[in-house]
Amino acid sequence: MTPSVGRTVHYVSYGTPGREYTSECRVAIVTAVPKYLTAEPMDGCPNGTDGEWIASLAVLTPTGLFFNEDVPFSEDNHAGGTWHWPERTD
Ligand SMILES: [Zn+2]
Repeated sequence: MTPSVGRTVHYVSYGTPGREYTSECRVAIVTAVPKYLTAEPMDGCPNGTDGEWIASLAVLTPTGLFFNEDVPFSEDNHAGGTWHWPERTD
């Protein structure tokens, strides 16, 4: 699947080291899909090369809204600071 502006995805928040907050899925809206990847080892390759995607996101949390650029996609490893497609519920 290809990210495009306006699509809804999940952004994984960072937990705090003391676990006051745990890492969790937040809803996010894709605000931009950069033309090129920006991180090694594929810096400068077209976005989506080998399934590596980055997207800029507007992240909605229960208490605030924040904006992040060039967020890497990670479907397998829901690590803090990555995004993935929402889980299928059917
Ligand atoms: Zn999720």
